Amino acid sequence: MSDPTEAAPVFDFDNSYARLPERFYSRTLPTKVASPRLIRLNKDLARHLKLDTELLASPKGVEILAGNRIASGSDPLAMAYAGHQFGNFVPQLGDGRAILLGEVTGRDGERRDIQLKGSGPTPFSRRGDGRAALGPVLREYILSEAFFALGIPTTRALAAVTTGEFVYRDPPAPGAVLTRVAASHIRAGTFQYFAARGDAEAIQLLADHIIARHYPQAALVPNRYLALLEQVIARQAALISQWMHVGFIHGVMNTDNMSIAGETIDFGPCAFIDAYHPGTVFSSIDQMGRYAYANQPRIAQWNLTRLAETLLPLLAEDKETALALAQGAINGFGGCYEAAYAGGFARKLGLLQPRPDGDVALGLDLLEKMAANEADFTLTFRGLCDAAWSADGLAATGRLFKDASAFDDWAIRWRQRLDSEGGDARARREMMRAANPAFIARNHLVEEVIAAAVNGNDFAPFEALLKVLARPFEDQPGHERFSQPPTPSQVVYQTFCGT
Ligand code: AMP
Ligand code: MG
Repeated sequence: MSDPTEAAPVFDFDNSYARLPERFYSRTLPTKVASPRLIRLNKDLARHLKLDTELLASPKGVEILAGNRIASGSDPLAMAYAGHQFGNFVPQLGDGRAILLGEVTGRDGERRDIQLKGSGPTPFSRRGDGRAALGPVLREYILSEAFFALGIPTTRALAAVTTGEFVYRDPPAPGAVLTRVAASHIRAGTFQYFAARGDAEAIQLLADHIIARHYPQAALVPNRYLALLEQVIARQAALISQWMHVGFIHGVMNTDNMSIAGETIDFGPCAFIDAYHPGTVFSSIDQMGRYAYANQPRIAQWNLTRLAETLLPLLAEDKETALALAQGAINGFGGCYEAAYAGGFARKLGLLQPRPDGDVALGLDLLEKMAANEADFTLTFRGLCDAAWSADGLAATGRLFKDASAFDDWAIRWRQRLDSEGGDARARREMMRAANPAFIARNHLVEEVIAAAVNGNDFAPFEALLKVLARPFEDQPGHERFSQPPTPSQVVYQTFCGT
């Protein structure tokens, strides 16, 4: 399969994870598929990763993206990890349907994983088939690229191919493979895997690997592992605050789906809120609402506590000291989150000079009124950009509320707050427009695109949606349809896991 004589390698791989001890992974080759077809190559991302787009889109490239051919320099492996799933610890999960091909360094000097998802069984597959269906592959492609355009840390999609085979789901569905790009695929659950085995040496090796790769500043202080924990916590707090400010619900915030690098990862039954309600849950498997919108910060802190537990032996020799250090770091989550959340809210509300007293409360009051009046999350905040500017804009935003007077009452206080700081109206508007997207990956649009592709082999709607979502902060005349909430018949109440 591997072709050492090939003229130009497709990837300039340097595989640092594969150099870790064998117990970190299982060397596994992708399973060949019947007839790969390229759905989409993300050319911008490919260029950013210094890849040859023509080569990748050629039959040979598509064979690589489908797992039928192993690119030279690749060292394919399935990563081992554990995880708390809905609060229950599972000591072995691992890449059951994903295979890491290797790592490349992009134009920005950053190292990134290239991984195939849906590329066949691995020793971690348990009862799964190791495959992915076309719908969830398109969903992850759309959502992750939409996140990138929103400026939220995320894994990305380099390519999607169909396999020419069916996967046995209910109903049977076309199979597909996603090529995922991530700062790394190391998860909180990767640490838990070794902690569950009492493998302190592996935990230290993993921590050192991560410090070198993602948190080099941590190496400069006396207690580098404490610094690592604190920085992972800070990144996660900032990430979740960004989710909250675009109305995103991840849906499966298990510890195996929390990236140590601080990226959003594993877009399964995730969705954006339309009409705002803090208790919103989409995932069909989240029966207790554990991962509801408003619970996400608390769950992140819970997950980080599980991570901190695995690091205890590295924090200090003395157990009590280690525990106190870990507890201190975990307690720091609240402050990090609140600062990030307040900063984000100030930009959304147009407050050029944020004040610690009252600004967040003002924002939370708006959310409360939105919930009581079934106001669309994205349209309301986008509407504020015009409402800060004109009476027409104010009236139009009020119409998003069942009872417009609820918004009008709030807006009086908001306008007073804006007036009290003065400032340049144009600068305010620009700041607000860059914080309040017009276009998000609304669930009904994503479902529409998937239905066209799966039922009609029509990928034009997928392309059209991607194009709009690539510029979420711009008004796009002629594309208003993509900014609108679902009609009652279009509302999607439940989303399903990618399995
Ligand atoms: P997820 O819900 O996608 O985060 O996956 C949870 C676990 O189930 C991970 O260990 C996955 O690798 C595994 N898994 C999910 N889908 C499949 C599948 N179709 N075949 C094998 N393993 C899977
Ligand atoms: Mg996962």
